[in-house]
Amino acid sequence: MTETIADDAPDLEFDLKVLPKVSLHDHLDGGLRPATIIDLAAEVGHTLPSTDPVALGEWFRESADSGSLVRYLETFDHTIAVMQTKEGLFRVAKEFVEDLADDGVVYGEVRWAPEQHLQRGLTLDEVVEAVQAGLDAGVEAVSETGREIQVGQLITAMRHADRSQEIAELAVRHRHQGAVGFDIAGAEDGFLPSRFKDAFTYLAQHNFPATVHAGEAAGLESIQSALVDGRALRLGHGVRIAEDVSIEFEEAESDGTEGDEVPDTIGMVTLGDLAGWVRDRGIALEICPSSNLQTGAISGFGEGIESHPVDMLYQLGFNVTINTDNRLMSGVTLTDEFELLVETFDYDLDDLLELTLNAAEAAFLPLEEKEALVEYINEAYADLG
Ligand SMILES: [Zn+2]
Repeated sequence: MTETIADDAPDLEFDLKVLPKVSLHDHLDGGLRPATIIDLAAEVGHTLPSTDPVALGEWFRESADSGSLVRYLETFDHTIAVMQTKEGLFRVAKEFVEDLADDGVVYGEVRWAPEQHLQRGLTLDEVVEAVQAGLDAGVEAVSETGREIQVGQLITAMRHADRSQEIAELAVRHRHQGAVGFDIAGAEDGFLPSRFKDAFTYLAQHNFPATVHAGEAAGLESIQSALVDGRALRLGHGVRIAEDVSIEFEEAESDGTEGDEVPDTIGMVTLGDLAGWVRDRGIALEICPSSNLQTGAISGFGEGIESHPVDMLYQLGFNVTINTDNRLMSGVTLTDEFELLVETFDYDLDDLLELTLNAAEAAFLPLEEKEALVEYINEAYADLG
C-alpha cells in the first residue's frame, strides 16, 4: 500500500492540481469567471449585484450557500443573462476550458442547456456552434501553453420546459461536431425522467448516450426512472442511491486479545435491488461533494461533509466519480474537491487514481480514446509515485 498523502504531510506533499483529472459533471453556466460576467454584463446592459469581481464572486457563493433555493436559482439568472450572444457564449466556453486545464483536467464534459440561450434571437443550432467554437478555441489556447485537454458537450434539456424532443434531436444533429451526450437538468422533484420518455427513446434509437440528473433533489423513484425511462448510462449525482443501502452495526465479540477493551463493530450491508443494479452494472455516479452539501442533497444522511455517503458508496464498490457541478457557485475546483476527500476520508493517491480512472472509463468517448486517456492517467500517476 502506498503511503497516504495525508500521512506524508498534513499540508499535502504536492499540489493536487498537477494530477490529471477527468470532469464529467460541470455546468457551463455555473463556471464563469466573475470578471467575465462583469465585462459581458456591461456589453449587454445587464445589471449585476456587484461590479467588483471579488465581491461578485462572494455574492455567488453566499447565495448558493444561503439554503434558499430561490437565491440559489437567482445566481443562474445572471450567468445566463450574459450568455445570450455568440461572443458571450464563445468567451465563456473558451475560458471554461482554460480554467479546467489550469485545474489539471485533461478530459472534460461540459453540460449546458441551449434552450436557455435564445433570449436575443439566436437559434438552437447557433448557440451550440458558438459554444463549440469557444471550446475549440480553449483547447487551442491550452495546447499553445504546452498542455493538452479534450472536451465534449453534454446537451441538456430543462425539465420544467417542454422541449426535450427538440433538444434530443439537436444533440444527435451535433454528435460529430462536439456533442457527446444528453442530459436533463433543473427541478428534479416532480419532473421524473418518464415525462421525457419519447426523447430518451429517440436518443436510444440513435445510439446516443444519456446521463440523467437523478438522486439529488429526489430519491429512489427518480433514479429508477432515470435508468428505466432515461436509459441513463450514468447518474448526475445519484448520491441518494445510498437510501437503498442499509447497514446494521452490531458489536463484534472480543477476540480475547489483551487490551482489546473496545469490541469492533461489524456492519452488515444490504443493497436493495436498485442499489444492486447500480453497483453491479457499474453505473457511474457523478458525485459533487460540495454541491451536494450546499443543495441539501445529502441532508438525509447527516450534517457536514463527513456524513456524505460518497465514502460508503466508494468502499462498497459503486462506480464513484468526483465532480464540481458549479465551480462559480460552490467556489470550488476539482482539485479542491479532491483535497476535501483527502482531508475528510483520508484518501491516498491510490484512491484518487481509482476515482479518476472510474471517470475516464465512464466518459462518453469511443473505446480507443478512452483507453488512451486511461493510459495517460496511469502513466502520470506512476511518474508521481
Ligand atoms: Zn448538475
